[in-house]
Amino acid sequence: MSIESRAAKLIRDDIRALSAYHVPPAKGLIKLDAMENPYVWSDELRKQWLEQLNQYSVNRYPDANAQTVKDKLRDVMHISKEHDILLGNGSDEIIQLLAMAVAKPGSVILAPEPCFVMYRMIATYTGMRYVGVPLSAQLDIDIDATLSAIKKYNPALIFIAQPNNPTGNLFSIEKIEKIIAVSSGLVVLDEAYTAFTDADFLPWVSRFENVVIMRTLSKVGLAGLRLGLLVGAPAWLNEIEKLRLPYNINTLTQLSVEFSLTHYDVLMSQTKIIREDRQSLYDHLKTISSVTVWPSEANFLLAKMPDEQAKNIHTRLRDEFNILVKCLDGSHPLLKDCLRLTVGTSTENETLKKALSSILS
Ligand SMILES: *Cc1c(COP(=O)(O)O)cnc(C)c1O
Repeated sequence: MSIESRAAKLIRDDIRALSAYHVPPAKGLIKLDAMENPYVWSDELRKQWLEQLNQYSVNRYPDANAQTVKDKLRDVMHISKEHDILLGNGSDEIIQLLAMAVAKPGSVILAPEPCFVMYRMIATYTGMRYVGVPLSAQLDIDIDATLSAIKKYNPALIFIAQPNNPTGNLFSIEKIEKIIAVSSGLVVLDEAYTAFTDADFLPWVSRFENVVIMRTLSKVGLAGLRLGLLVGAPAWLNEIEKLRLPYNINTLTQLSVEFSLTHYDVLMSQTKIIREDRQSLYDHLKTISSVTVWPSEANFLLAKMPDEQAKNIHTRLRDEFNILVKCLDGSHPLLKDCLRLTVGTSTENETLKKALSSILS
């Protein structure tokens, strides 16, 4: 028997049908594809960080509870004492923990679509059924379709990214309230982009019994450290905690996050620049008549290119201008001809503006 046929016999069919999450090569390119914060720390800050790390030895296991990290997060994000915090190796891991906790035969994850792709992928990993309800043409929640899907499938988990990826907008609050009111499952409000919007749904954890809030430090400038958090009532989080692997947050991450949260003001001043530059990039795209751009509350813009040109423009940006963006054409009917442009440094954004004007003129 070949190894291939052994694998084919042993591995679940639904897993064999998947393709692994694809990360395109980005070496040497201006990286505007993955919603990273483009700014780095000053030399002085780097030096202080490395001095802190230097006091640590790797022979010991991490603090299993990551208590100092939690205390710091509570502090900078103003998380109330009544609510618990659960930490994940990125919020991706938290999505996985939530799914594992509710995955009974036939149980369903529901999300408005297009949305963050990991909701669907993790539903598959955990043997859950995934139901995506298309957004309206205005990219808001289609409330009638969503309410009838909830009635039909009784989802155990509903993920709502607020603001949403890859559309960048906030959904109507009244619609989310309706969804929460009719759901017997848990509604996860995914605030991955909280640093780029004034909207804040943390108080909803107190308002509704079936809401938890998920956040991440990835988009604010710490993508390399992998730290996500779930905030919710102890009655929910105590159960999810049981599935968390004991040392999922390694010591280098814990120490580095503690250090960076002590300098949270630096990250916040970087996100402030990104928010200003988002407006400037939006204004520029508005001046290109063949492009449609949507207002965004995140650190990226969704932009629709002229008919059938998104793939070509994506390639030209990369090959002629060294700029990597995300091509969404083909991933969902509502994203036809669309590119997703992460806001970079002010200099990178100027390069992107010139490149798009040159290609589209
Ligand atoms: C990026 C993103 C995440 C995941 O971030 P992690 O890096 O795994 O913490 C979660 N939700 C949305 C909507 C995102 O865009």
